[in-house]
Amino acid sequence: MRRLITAVVPLLLTFAAIGEAAGQTCTAPRAPLRPSESDWVRDHVSCSPYLFGVDGSHWQRVGFNRGSWTGPFAPGAVCDWETPYGRTMLTIEFLAYVQRTWEPRMAQNAAAGLTPRPAGLAAVDAINDLRADCQVKSKATTVNLGSLIHQSVTLHIPSFGLDIVNRAANLVHEARHIIDNKGHDGSRCHRRQSCDSSWAHDGANRWEFEFYAAVALNWNIDDRLRALAVEHFRNNLWQAFDTVPNFPSPFRDGSLSLPRRPLPPPVPEPLPPTEEPVPQPPPVDVPAEPPSDPCTRPPFCTLPE
Ligand SMILES: [Zn+2]
Repeated sequence: MRRLITAVVPLLLTFAAIGEAAGQTCTAPRAPLRPSESDWVRDHVSCSPYLFGVDGSHWQRVGFNRGSWTGPFAPGAVCDWETPYGRTMLTIEFLAYVQRTWEPRMAQNAAAGLTPRPAGLAAVDAINDLRADCQVKSKATTVNLGSLIHQSVTLHIPSFGLDIVNRAANLVHEARHIIDNKGHDGSRCHRRQSCDSSWAHDGANRWEFEFYAAVALNWNIDDRLRALAVEHFRNNLWQAFDTVPNFPSPFRDGSLSLPRRPLPPPVPEPLPPTEEPVPQPPPVDVPAEPPSDPCTRPPFCTLPE
């Protein structure tokens, strides 16, 4: 999944990579969005040239290497999310979305034995050179020659066909290789050169699974995307560590059940009608009727003699 190069010698590889970017000839793999992805895009993503274009914030935040996003990886129509470029833009947007909805879950993740870390876009801040190329053998490669020389993550063809949760986790994984120049230290698990010896190694695989947990435990995120995160966590955990982690609950058996969305606070019962006294108008002083003057009533008036 990655190739971590720490020596100075591979400077030649750097130049080779630049040359490779200019001459890409593969066919751009279009991949239709899954229903869960297109629903999420509809509900949470604004189709704007600003988001999609070279001046968008994502270009600033994650270092797209513009020279490699050309040819088969060039942007198509604005907000054409099925191209490698469009799908990568959505991945970055999803990382931003996870980050916006992440904070309330940090305490729960800590209680579940997971280290609270920046999740989402903050987790991939270290990527300052994001490229794309035509390789088909793995999902991505990270080259880290030290912060002053060259650090880059190159996405390969297979990465563009993954679902959005997997693509985002993949970027978090690769970012960990850049942060602290952290490489893999295992080889016996299914991933072979991309195995970590254990959870305690605190490597790229752990960061990848912590990201899945961050999505799965975050009920502000759409249920079907959370279900995808649970699926990836459950299906892949066994393949990534020489010593499979033994988590405290709820990860004890390596599985992860989808937590229930919390119930909304109960609506207070309406108070029963009380028998309040019907308001009465304030008493009005009615002036006593003046004694009638018998002489104003001619039929009864008896004039004094
Ligand atoms: Zn890796």
